Amino acid sequence: MNQKLYFGTNLKMYKTISDTLDYLSKLADLTKDISRDNIELFVIPSYTSLVKASETIDQNLIKLGAQNMNWEDQGQFTGEISPIMLKELNLELVMIGHSERRHVFRESDIDENKKVRSALSHDLTVLLCIGETLEEKNFGVSEEVLRRQLKIGLHNIPNERIHQLWIAYEPVWAIGVNGIPATSDYAERMHRLIKECLSELFGEEAKQIPVLYGGSVNPGNAEDLIVQPSIDGLFTGRSAWQADDFNLLIRSS
Ligand code: PEP
Repeated sequence: MNQKLYFGTNLKMYKTISDTLDYLSKLADLTKDISRDNIELFVIPSYTSLVKASETIDQNLIKLGAQNMNWEDQGQFTGEISPIMLKELNLELVMIGHSERRHVFRESDIDENKKVRSALSHDLTVLLCIGETLEEKNFGVSEEVLRRQLKIGLHNIPNERIHQLWIAYEPVWAIGVNGIPATSDYAERMHRLIKECLSELFGEEAKQIPVLYGGSVNPGNAEDLIVQPSIDGLFTGRSAWQADDFNLLIRSS
């Protein structure tokens, strides 16, 4: 059973290096009294910001992560970043399979699996994002989609690596300005299904894999979501992009 609560944000392509450093130092200061024994706080900035951020931020207070990576260590892959490059920045965390990677950049479940396996073998912790589209939800196949994303995304992962796995359930229809947040009942039901599927894949030990909810989390719904028994954390976009707002959201949860 995971006792910690996880709170994180993905800054997408929004903050410059100076914006990011300013944000991170404010967030570290605002949250310094919160014991990290109970809370894992993480921020996923742009690649360019990661270079300076990793030199200045105490990752015992705020863990930094990358938004994506290629599965190869090096090669002729213009514009890509390898796991070795992330490790050079002392990063421990990489997000894989965010809905924008899957739907805007057309990444497949098989691509995500290659990335997950590569990241784990480089001792990175993986935040694997999964979630159904509105169309899939309306056709009544949300559960099949989540199972497929997990079974392919986590194919061939040895049990000794599962302590490096975090999952974010982010229904695509709930994300962003046009998103409608999932109700806490719906989110809880899907988290239960995800945990069931993880147990089928990895047995008892799967209980240690945290499953976070993301998609229009805001100060009005955060508490209701986080008290659900199968929700281990909140992965927040817009409502966390100001340090004051993120601090309040964490404290109100
Ligand atoms: C996201 O894009 O992953 C996300 C959770 O965004 P938001 O909270 O803004 O819906």
